[in-house]
Amino acid sequence: MSVLKYIDKVLKQIVTNSPGQVEFYQATEEVLSSLVPLLERYDKYDKYNILERIVIPERTIIFRINWLDDNGNIQTNIGYRVQFNSAIGPYKGGLRFHPTVNLGIIKFLGFEQIFKNSLTGLNIGGAKGGSNFNPKGKSENEIMKFCQAFMIELSRHIGERRDIPAGDIGVGKEELGYLFGQYKKITGRFEGVLTGKGLNWGGSLARTEATGYGSVYFAEHILNKYKDSLKGKVCAVSGAGNVAIYTIEKLLSMGAKPVTCSDSGGTIYHKKGIDLETLKAIKEIERKRLSEYVKLCPDAEYIPVSKYPKNGHACWQVKCDCAFPSATQNELSLIDAKALVKNGCKLVNEGANMPTVPDAVRYLKENKIFFGPAKAANAGGVATSQLEMSQNASMSNWSFNEVDAKLKKIMKNIFDISYETAKEYGCKDDLLTGANIAGFKKVADSMIDQGAV
Ligand code: NDP
Repeated sequence: MSVLKYIDKVLKQIVTNSPGQVEFYQATEEVLSSLVPLLERYDKYDKYNILERIVIPERTIIFRINWLDDNGNIQTNIGYRVQFNSAIGPYKGGLRFHPTVNLGIIKFLGFEQIFKNSLTGLNIGGAKGGSNFNPKGKSENEIMKFCQAFMIELSRHIGERRDIPAGDIGVGKEELGYLFGQYKKITGRFEGVLTGKGLNWGGSLARTEATGYGSVYFAEHILNKYKDSLKGKVCAVSGAGNVAIYTIEKLLSMGAKPVTCSDSGGTIYHKKGIDLETLKAIKEIERKRLSEYVKLCPDAEYIPVSKYPKNGHACWQVKCDCAFPSATQNELSLIDAKALVKNGCKLVNEGANMPTVPDAVRYLKENKIFFGPAKAANAGGVATSQLEMSQNASMSNWSFNEVDAKLKKIMKNIFDISYETAKEYGCKDDLLTGANIAGFKKVADSMIDQGAV
């Protein structure tokens, strides 16, 4: 069977076996279709049915969560943990609490996580989890009750050598604290079972900053390769959460000028550059909506979602040299890609997971825009989580600079392996293909070594 037919057969099986999971189809199609040069070179992946096996999670756990709200009423949510692949290490991947969470979204994120974790060069397998619980508008007490109820079930399936969850959208320090406290209460064990922990109870310095910083380091490597740098570049950033804030912080420290950020209500455009202190005060301390920003910085513009172009996002309509989508999946459409190209953008670097829709990725490629794919560009977060695991296991604490230096080295290695692999397989400069092949090969070869398990 030809390689293209083999891939097509597996993609069809996915649709039959996982009805309605559109984000999962999108993620599997992107990865599998980029493996053509690898599959043409080696027939072992077909011989050992690797594609058929790698698209099915090793284990999928779906559970009911009941918790009592402040009025004493029983609330019900659905919880997920998809333990996708443990060929190269224990399961590792974040937890997302957001009303849009469903099995297809958790599977897409878990699938991406396998290859991202492999690219870090560290021994971590791929997983993802979460719930359709919406932390917005809930009291502290309700968030705690929900997290405790979620952990009652999750605790049966995780452990420091088994599965180590972390945060993601809607799961920050506060939620991780409640989850960790409940895990300890249930199991009686103080162990590094979660990452992104508070600094007083086993967390690592620089973990909070790692995904955003790592994304900027990756973008700098791309530009350096072509004898350019971020210094002086105008950058559009989406999101106003963990990844976006620390992307903006690192961009500023490298002499770039981030001019946008956004939340689900709208976009801030601040032509003279985002004021980091104001952004942090609103989002990290007061936990308010981004619309507050213009009250403190009246020379900035606030564009509510109702004023966005049809099927487009305000962040990508501004004149910029580089774009950093750092909020959520499918937030950069074909219309947005066209606007970026028209306005002279040179680089799109994905801080969020799968933020760019497939048509837009194709359009950017056709127009020779540099592209930092998510599983490489945002891998600094999970890599630093693994550094947190190392510190927990050896009962040591490293300084901020030590962790940051290791993060820098890891991001350089990820860039090099993605770049070199693309070149080796005849797709020079295509970091997406390079990252997919390099991430896949290590996991697939390990699966072959370990037999039919
Ligand atoms: P946060 O919850 O801290 O922030 C998410 C931001 O994106 C918020 O500003 C949020 O706005 C906005 N957002 C979320 N969903 C939507 C939506 N459907 N439409 C518009 N805006 C939205 O999450 P993170 O910063 O941690 O994560 C951002 C992205 O980065 C995700 O794709 C995540 O999977 C990915 N990622 C995160 C890592 C990490 O270490 N945190 C590691 C690797 C990837 P609002 O508050 O209004 O909802």
